[in-house]
Order: sequence, then C-alpha cells, then structure tokens
Amino acid sequence: LADARLTEAEILADPVAKIAAVGGARHPSIPLPIDLFAPGHRNSTGIDLSDIATLDATAKAVALPAVTPVAETADVTALVARAHAAFPAWNATPLDTRASVLEKLADLLEQDRERLMAILVQEAFKTIPDAIGEVREAADFCRYYAQQARMRLGSVELPGPTGERNTLHLEGRGVWATVAPWNFPLAIFLGQTVAALVTGNTVVAKPAPQTPAIAQAAVELAYRAGVPRDALLLAVGGPAVGQALTEDHRIAGVAFTGSTATAKRIARTLVADDDRPIVPLIAETGGINAMIVDSTALPEQVVADVITSSFRSAGQRCSALRLLLVQADVADNVIAMLKGAMDTLVLGPTGNPATDVGPVIDQAAYDKLMAYRASMVARTVETLDAPAEGLFVPPTLIRLDRVEDLTQEWFGPILHVATWDAGTLSETIAKVNAKGYGLTMGLHSRIARAGEVAESEAAVGNLYINRSMIGAVVGSQPFGGEGLSGTGPKAGGPHYLYRFCAERAVSVDT
Ligand code: GLU
Repeated sequence: LADARLTEAEILADPVAKIAAVGGARHPSIPLPIDLFAPGHRNSTGIDLSDIATLDATAKAVALPAVTPVAETADVTALVARAHAAFPAWNATPLDTRASVLEKLADLLEQDRERLMAILVQEAFKTIPDAIGEVREAADFCRYYAQQARMRLGSVELPGPTGERNTLHLEGRGVWATVAPWNFPLAIFLGQTVAALVTGNTVVAKPAPQTPAIAQAAVELAYRAGVPRDALLLAVGGPAVGQALTEDHRIAGVAFTGSTATAKRIARTLVADDDRPIVPLIAETGGINAMIVDSTALPEQVVADVITSSFRSAGQRCSALRLLLVQADVADNVIAMLKGAMDTLVLGPTGNPATDVGPVIDQAAYDKLMAYRASMVARTVETLDAPAEGLFVPPTLIRLDRVEDLTQEWFGPILHVATWDAGTLSETIAKVNAKGYGLTMGLHSRIARAGEVAESEAAVGNLYINRSMIGAVVGSQPFGGEGLSGTGPKAGGPHYLYRFCAERAVSVDT
C-alpha cells in the first residue's frame, strides 16, 4: 500500500501509475457482452435506444488521454480571459444551434462508449455496471438539457396594456466555473458544463484532480460536437486551481459538486471582495442519508435496496444510504438477513465483471475510512475480508444506539444501523432532519399513511419510497439537496437551466 501513496502531482503526471498502485482494473482484457441500452432501461428523453445493438464492451486498458495540469494562477487567469472573450459570440449563437451541439455530443458519447467506460473503470475505479450507467447518464444530461433549452429558453412575450410591448429574454450570464467531483467524473462533470453552455455561457471546467483523463476525453468530444474551443476550457489541478478560478471577478457563476466544506469556502470567496458582482453558486454536496423501515416492509426488498444503496459504487455516492433505521420489533430479522446479503458481496478489481465493490478512490479516503472502521470495531456487527492488495474498504455494518449518534458523512461502504419504536415515525424523521443535511431519504413501508407522512415531513431533495435511494434518472428524479446538502437546484430537472441564465425584461412603449 505504501506504493499507492502518490502525490497529487504524480497522479496528474501519470494516472496509469495510480491505477496500478490502487488496485483498480487488474483484469485488463475481459470481453463482455453488455447491452448498454437494454429494453426497459429508461432514457430520460423518451428516445427508444433499445435497438442499439448489444455492445461488446471490452474493459481493456485504453490509453488515457493526455492531460495538461494548470500550474499557476496566471494560467487560470488566462483561461478565464479566453472564455470571457468567447462569451459574446457563443451567447449570440442561436439557441437551436447550441441545443443541436448537445445532441451531437450525446451521439458521440454513445458512439465512444467503450473507450469512455474503459477510462472510467481505470481512472475512477468504476465497476462495469457503474461505468455503463455513467456514460448513459452523461448522454441523458446532454439530450435532456437540449430538449429543455428548446422548450424553456429564448424570449417570451409578456402581457401589458395596449401600446406597451413586454418581453422577457433568457440568456447566458458570462463565464461559469464548473467544479466536478471524482465520483461522477463524466456525468456530473458534463451535466454541469453542458447546462451552462446550452444557456449561452462559456465555461472553465475544473475536474477533480483524481479524474482528469475522463474530463479531457469529454472535452475533446464536446469540441468535435461543435463547442467552440474557447467556449469550454479545462482547468486541471487541485484546490489552488479551484481557488484561483473562483477568485476571478470575471466568473459569472459557479456550479459545484463536492463536499459541504468546499461549497462554503467557494461561497465565502464569491462574496469576499466588495467590488465583485454578486454571482450565483449552485452547490450539490453530501448528506447523512437515512432509510426508515417499518414492520410492514417486505424484508427481502429492504435488504436488496439497502445493499444497492449502501454498497454499490463502494458507497461513494452522495445519495448513498448511511443510516438504516429499522423498527425495533423487526430489527433482529432485518439485520440477520442483511448480514447474509453482505456476505455475498464480491470485492475485487473493477474491470472484473463479477465485482460488486471495487477500491475506494485514493489513499486519503482509504486511510480515513479504515481509521473510522477501526475505531468502531466494538460496534461492528458485520464486515468482510478485503483483498490483500489495493485500497479495498470492506463493506461494514455498524450498530448505533441512537439516530443522533451519526454526526458526519462517511463517504464509503460503511452503513450504520439503529432502531426506532413503533408510533414514532414523525419523531424519527425529525431527528434525521435535525442533522441539517437534506439530500436523500428512504422509506420502506406498506402503510400508505407512512408514505404521506414522509412526503410532507422529510426535509430532503430526494425521497425514495419502497425502492433504492441511488441512481436518480435524468428527467424523472431531478437530483439535489437542501440545507447542508446544497443550494437546491435539481440537476436533470425542468428548472435547472434557469439557474444558469440572466433574465432581462424589456418594455417598449409602442
Ligand atoms: N445522482 C447520483 C445518484 O442518484 C448521485 C450523485 C452524487 O453522488 O453526487 O446516485
């Protein structure tokens, strides 16, 4: 494991070395028949893609695109200057043309899916099903925002008295900074970026330092789709690059997905200088996401949905389940079944199609999660053996006495369980709400009234009833939270694009 201790600079210089050290794709050449767009897999725009032939996805080691890190503040300033200069022309490009570019990008993503999946498996340690889902979601974002832009943007006439013409124009604001996470380095990276582009903005996009190669691949496809070179510029680097970017007064908005602490730092930066315009921040951050299970729930379904929600993607989703709250009288049964299901999970390299849980993203994440796990050993009711090499955090179930005992998000395959007493659903929801986060919540119950209570009392952006809590579908489950979980705009929802627009009302006395 000592070999996996690479510095950020080393990772940026040689992503392949990181892959070998961390234990990512170690079965580099497994031909696998995968139907990427299987019938029944809903596409957000309603386009039927099931006729696309079965894909022979080969999780082979593709060459990762070369990336050039941005080294200094001066480089960031130069990128912002280029995007700033490109803004008037792109903003004046007809809306229909901009939307068509996104649709073309969706086509290119689908055509290039095998290579993109292979990069995701290698660089972000995505399992093959997660890599498929991510390419799918990236293409969905492009098509959905193209469709929404055509429906909602442009200019509308508004009412007024005779002799007065009122028009509302929606257009770009200027240069947006998009700051993306490593856990969805293609879908979220592109989703934020194309939302800004289609509304007429230009973009300087900062990928997570762990995943620059997939961002580079995405930007190259965007250029091929027709995005002008200076309308989208990649700023590869660590926190210093993000800081320089958000400090630049020409940045007209920031779309950020990542930690709550970083979102707050960005918010402070954006208001720090008195002479800076007030600009919007779209932030989607973490959560202490709970699922409440009552005694009427179907235990088999609960267990399947808990396994998916907690351990898929090695728990590295902001939507993931962290705190399972089972009604006390059925808790022993549910926990026993859950332990049995956990035992069947396969840990291993992400390029192996049998793998359920791959390694976590980097050494720092591994160290933090393993230290926490060690500190909770007395409360651990189930855990697995991990492969000897690589950054594998074993799926772990930790028993807590009270809802209040979980006070922070652990971003990995660690699930906590506590019980609640019959008749206290509202109080239990209130205790979860009191943590201050508000991203996802789950409820498993066959009592309709329980669903109604959760719907009116759960202070979360995404409530899931009798299903898993992850995998929001573009256009069907607009995704984003409130409170400590973010500023609220919902990615993949019908109102998202408005957040990237300037609105200008013009009244003419005719
Ligand atoms: N949209 C993803 C989901 O529903 C989570 C996004 C994230 O982890 O940031 O699972």
